[in-house]
Amino acid sequence: MGKFYCKYCGTFRSSVASLTASTCPRHPDGPNRGRHALYEGGERSEYVCRYCGAKRSSIMSLTASSCPRHPNGPNKGKHAPAR
Ligand SMILES: [Zn+2]
Ligand SMILES: [Zn+2]
Repeated sequence: MGKFYCKYCGTFRSSVASLTASTCPRHPDGPNRGRHALYEGGERSEYVCRYCGAKRSSIMSLTASSCPRHPNGPNKGKHAPAR
């Protein structure tokens, strides 16, 4: 079984069903205002922000910090992994 990652926070579960069953602390609408959402890219050694190009070794660390080029405004949202 693979690991299924949330694109907002980097949490992973062994199935998509269990991933999307619980709320996400880094949901873009606000903490726990929505559920985890599947990251559809593969597992990789480095994750790149789709807005600014920041690189981190995990989705969890990438989405932990604010993005200076976020579409809602500078630092108005977190980095988001590209595929
Ligand atoms: Zn999440
Ligand atoms: Zn970014």
